[in-house]
Amino acid sequence: MRILITGGAGFIGSHLCERLLEEGNEVICLDNFFTGRRANISHLLDNKTFEIVRHDVTEPILLEVDQIYNLACPASPVHYQYNPVKTVKTSVMGTINMLGLAKRVKARILQASTSEVYGDPLVHPQTEDYWGNVNPIGLRSCYDEGKRVAETLMMDYNRQNDVDTRIVRIFNTYGERMLENDGRVVSNFVVQALKGEEVTIYGDGTQTRSFCYVSDLVEGLIKLMNTEADDIHMPVNLGNPTEFTMNELAQEVSKAVGKDINIKYLPLPQDDPKQRQPNIERAKKLLNWEPKVPLAEGLKKTVEHFRPFCEAQ
Ligand code: NAD
Ligand code: UDP
Repeated sequence: MRILITGGAGFIGSHLCERLLEEGNEVICLDNFFTGRRANISHLLDNKTFEIVRHDVTEPILLEVDQIYNLACPASPVHYQYNPVKTVKTSVMGTINMLGLAKRVKARILQASTSEVYGDPLVHPQTEDYWGNVNPIGLRSCYDEGKRVAETLMMDYNRQNDVDTRIVRIFNTYGERMLENDGRVVSNFVVQALKGEEVTIYGDGTQTRSFCYVSDLVEGLIKLMNTEADDIHMPVNLGNPTEFTMNELAQEVSKAVGKDINIKYLPLPQDDPKQRQPNIERAKKLLNWEPKVPLAEGLKKTVEHFRPFCEAQ
């Protein structure tokens, strides 16, 4: 199969490129290199069935492909708030362009949505039928509302134009190839602990997240793309349901790094969700999928990835 991965030079995208190449597919990695890096995919360049296209998804493109994974969009609050208008354009115009492409060439398309569509959730754990509690005008809205519109577009292109769509709501995912200055909690804590710096916890650290290791997530993405079912076009949560407070996460990172840590408490950012945990019953039933890698094990691998960068400095 010829598969297009937008955002393919990013954290999750690069792991997906790798897996799909291993399975014998032709892979086109499309990226504007905003948060993606050539280094994430440079080990794949010798592969004859791998191609890189420098392109921005806000502009249309015509390619002949069988499947599209639309992952292009900065995912860290630090990066998506850097140019919020561009973030909205990436989700809205980018998704329209990719859906237009899917429609023209009759490709199946999977949209990377997010647990952020649930906002600061009042239903816990979050099930796919919960409509969410999102602030439409806050600092996180460019990302949250952009992804909500992307979901709307997917459903409407499916209903109106019969495009073969998949929507995945990804919960916090971590692992090798996150950027050192990514700003998300796992990479921040790991880098700070390795450098012997104070670990920055925002707020009182009682807010919760549930962390999925990247190989588990990639497995789920591929299964969702290749599964057929009557309600397959409806959103599917993918994530690891084991929930941690940020205080607990700091201690887990300390164990994985093998060092004691000092904690610095900083103000909580605006609209920071208080709790998050996926209900993954739908993914279990539909895809026969569940995450296998516990946090302690995934953190160890992540720490070994960051160690050379941090200890060289
Ligand atoms: P990332 O920032 O590492 O990757 C995003 C990639 O998209 C980067 O390579 C970036 O350069 C590229 N990109 C951004 N804007 C673009 C544009 N306009 N045109 C072309 N390329 C563009 O983030 P990630 O963690 O790998 O996330 C991948 C996808 O998964 C995103 O859509 C994100 O919203 C979604 N997601 C991720 C998480 C997570 O925890 N990692 C959680 C929920 C959803
Ligand atoms: N966070 C933190 N310290 C950091 C970075 C993030 O305590 O250095 C907190 C953040 O306030 C949030 C949680 O960790 O409550 C997860 O943040 P992240 O940016 O990774 O993802 P998101 O908020 O989008 O789930």
